[in-house]
Amino acid sequence: MGRRPRHPQGNGADPVSASDESHRVNTRLVGAGRREEWTGPVVNPPVWRASTHLYPDTAALREGGKHNADGRFFYGRRGAPTQWALAEALTELERGAAGTVLYPSGVAAIAGALMAVLRPGDVLLVTDNAYEPSRIMANGLLKRFGIESRFFDPLDIDGFADRFCDRTRAVLLESPGSLTMEVCDVPALAAIAREKGAISLIDNTWASALGFPALERGCDIAIMSLTKHVGGHSDLMMGSASAGERWYRALRQTGQALGHVVSPDDASLALRGLRTMGVRLEKSAESALAIARWLADREEVAQVLCPMLPGTPGHELWQRDFTGGCGLFSFILKGRDAAASARFVDALTWFGIGFSWGGFESLALPIDPSSIRTDSSWPPAAWDTEDRWGIRLSIGLEDPQDLIRDLERGFAAMERE
Ligand SMILES: *Cc1c(COP(=O)(O)O)cnc(C)c1O
Repeated sequence: MGRRPRHPQGNGADPVSASDESHRVNTRLVGAGRREEWTGPVVNPPVWRASTHLYPDTAALREGGKHNADGRFFYGRRGAPTQWALAEALTELERGAAGTVLYPSGVAAIAGALMAVLRPGDVLLVTDNAYEPSRIMANGLLKRFGIESRFFDPLDIDGFADRFCDRTRAVLLESPGSLTMEVCDVPALAAIAREKGAISLIDNTWASALGFPALERGCDIAIMSLTKHVGGHSDLMMGSASAGERWYRALRQTGQALGHVVSPDDASLALRGLRTMGVRLEKSAESALAIARWLADREEVAQVLCPMLPGTPGHELWQRDFTGGCGLFSFILKGRDAAASARFVDALTWFGIGFSWGGFESLALPIDPSSIRTDSSWPPAAWDTEDRWGIRLSIGLEDPQDLIRDLERGFAAMERE
């Protein structure tokens, strides 16, 4: 075919301008991370299983240990071509990144990145809409290591600067927020953090590097659960953290000290998922928006929380800062309780009931966002406090009309006490 196995301009050196980016990203996804020396003549980098490198003599063994970088095989824990190809592909997609470290799950990526930047005595500011395991990590593991976490309202830009003290080392952001989906002003928050001498990390799982160029918007470290959009098929667990030169080195050192490594089989699956991620995200975002619009007209619904839909807190910021969306959003039911939202979800047939999201299949989950908030007022004052319970949907690749018919069944079941 005469096709080059490698993307012609890999590894962060790509001079593509921001305006070119959105229509070039699908092209990049096809060739990202493909180097002839790793991939050979085949299309997707093969699974390269290895622990031990055999050296011809002891001098070569000593020499081998001196070079710690992707692309130099030394021992399986430092990765091999399949993992390097995936890490390089993710670096190519994250503009401004010098490198990417892979982790055995998204939670491991959050823990690994926080441990790379924090020391005992530090204060960590955590957005109040953080993914629940991040909150548990902040209040548990990090506390045990002498790190104090303080939660802040991500929509309160004016109050943010006052949250810093001389021990504040880092800020953990997430936008849109887990369950409540509000988009915050990441460039403004990251700029304040930088001014205060703090490092900003963002859990960018929802948008991914395709929908939100986190480093370009001012963050220092961009974290993703690859379990979601990159894997895309609900059959692997993995996470990543990408950063510029300074923090990439810290991430790598800490990741190696913690002994994190991902299997080459999973890395190969993640690379396979990555090739179709652009079209999957576009399709599920389009279906999600159609379904969100339909839900917004239902009288049983108090509010649809979908960043792509006008009326969701931060929708204007989504339009300003993001280059794409995805299929994950929530809606809050008008004055219904836990039992009603459970009846709704139990009646669905096309939607699976389960945690996680970002796969090709649609999922639904009853939620009570107020149960995990501490700092911000939730629900917002303008809403009836009876409107607490809701449902989170992850829209997959099914026909949206079938999903809407399914949701009609859910509403009907909700009214049957
Ligand atoms: C799922 C998720 C994670 C954790 O990812 P795992 O791979 O399941 O450990 C982190 N952040 C967000 C926002 C998530 O939804």
